[in-house]
Amino acid sequence: MLRGMPAPVVDFDTQPFWDGVASEKLLVPHCKACGTGRWPPGPVCDKCWSTETEWKNTVGPGRLYSWVVTTHATHPALTSQVPYVVVLVEFDDKVRILGNLVNWDGETLVDGQELHVVFEEREDGTKIYNFRT
Ligand SMILES: [Zn+2]
Repeated sequence: MLRGMPAPVVDFDTQPFWDGVASEKLLVPHCKACGTGRWPPGPVCDKCWSTETEWKNTVGPGRLYSWVVTTHATHPALTSQVPYVVVLVEFDDKVRILGNLVNWDGETLVDGQELHVVFEEREDGTKIYNFRT
């Protein structure tokens, strides 16, 4: 876990997602009209513009779609924690979710490799999600 980061900002559209994370579930909004999943959560389907949403538990593993090794601290709390890896993980329903890779030790990452969701409790007691190999 990246220590010292601000808590996630929760709003009307993301509340079910973060409630799911608190229960160690990765709930993703899917359009009731066309079935398309979307992330980040938002009020409207990106494909058909329907506002009818159902939340589905996305289970992994996912596959590594893209990543970046971050060597420059973009927040003061990260100064002692670089380098770290930010990953974009694609699940079977084609939803892609951004997160941090928590167990990266410098090994080579491979496009399409399997990644698993992990849930961690922050210092303030809230939970966040991340990914591991
Ligand atoms: Zn739709």
